[in-house]
Amino acid sequence: MSVKAWRLVAVAVVVMLGACSFPSLEDEPDTGRASGTVTRALKDVERFWGEHFPEVADGQAFEPVRGGYHPYTENDPPPACGGQQAGYEPNAFYCPGDDFIAWDAQTLIPSLEADYGPALVGVVMAHEYGHAIQARIGPANQRTVVLEQQADCYAGAWLADVLAGRSQAFKKLTAEQLDTTVAGLLLLRDQPGTPAAAEGAHGNAFDRIRALQEGVEDGVGQCAKYRASNLPVTEVPFSTREEAASGGDLPYDDAIQALATDAQEYWTRTYPQLTGEQWRRLPVQAFEAGSPPSCSRPDASAGGAAFYCADGDFAAFDTTELGPQLHERIGDYAVGMLLGDLFARAAQDRRGAETRDRAGQLAVDCLAGSWTNDILTREDQDTLRLSPGDLDEAVSALLAFGRASDGGGPTAFDRIASYRSGVLEGLSACRA
Ligand SMILES: [Zn+2]
Repeated sequence: MSVKAWRLVAVAVVVMLGACSFPSLEDEPDTGRASGTVTRALKDVERFWGEHFPEVADGQAFEPVRGGYHPYTENDPPPACGGQQAGYEPNAFYCPGDDFIAWDAQTLIPSLEADYGPALVGVVMAHEYGHAIQARIGPANQRTVVLEQQADCYAGAWLADVLAGRSQAFKKLTAEQLDTTVAGLLLLRDQPGTPAAAEGAHGNAFDRIRALQEGVEDGVGQCAKYRASNLPVTEVPFSTREEAASGGDLPYDDAIQALATDAQEYWTRTYPQLTGEQWRRLPVQAFEAGSPPSCSRPDASAGGAAFYCADGDFAAFDTTELGPQLHERIGDYAVGMLLGDLFARAAQDRRGAETRDRAGQLAVDCLAGSWTNDILTREDQDTLRLSPGDLDEAVSALLAFGRASDGGGPTAFDRIASYRSGVLEGLSACRA
């Protein structure tokens, strides 16, 4: 995010999540078990395509990869692809020339399984298999970002089988497991073994999760339609060379001030569209971790470290732990997601709608997204402007503080989808 005279650029999402809320590897990964998971996943993905390939290939029957499955390690490298021997890399790839799938069985896959569970390994393999599907039916000559998102969409279509309990290899996921899988997806950078892959051409996490979710919801037929001409791509370019060169996150205090001012201004301008009434200024109180201001019935976010207080008519958040952690570990727009959530909670409550049940929470996320939509689409870009990575920071923040719990609330998976509809469609997308 940037404001006039400030230049702020997102930090890498990846590092934060690893450092923030996910278990790290303490024991040596169990490589044997992980490889078993890969094989099981690939077999199940082949079962899936046996059923669905005819839908996207004019009725043709599916033919599994001919070149086989190849786990590799530093000492036991993958087969040459198209005559080129690849060096060891901690990744997974599909080789179009020789029609095989290979993966790092030493580090990548065991780590993913240990940290994020077997379903993420399944999604990675379903993504790679998606490239094999592309090699069979196209589209040819599309930009890498289209092919990557289409592979994510195909992976989502397979994941729908797991979510519905139809997979023969994976148990139905719990809400927590689904959110952990999506969190893992944020970490993945796909680096196929082919030289065609341009850095940064894979889409941001915001777009990749959209593609995955579209696959889950609409199936392979929708994925097959992906083309550069019909794919929304939200990756924000750097606006100037200086922004790219000298980028850095807005300092924490400045970020809070700029964001709170902007949110206040946004709701002052748009709240009347929702209700016909004027927006009352929403005070935002800072508090020290563990010492929140009193409120008889706080409408909590982030596990209580942030809340909207209807009877006191204010919002408050922990500015000594939660705020700095979001800012440091994810980036300035993670703080934007938090403030956006609090203002949206107030807007939802003030319009007389529920905020605490599932539908209410999803409406809050949509309203928060509508503010992001406004920042992205307003003409006056001098006030506040998103930088590359900001949308991913918002998604990461939702995964960090909005993940599914036992309470039966919505999953981060669903919250991201609702936030995204606000971001892409604006206020009109957000029902009470
Ligand atoms: Zn890929």
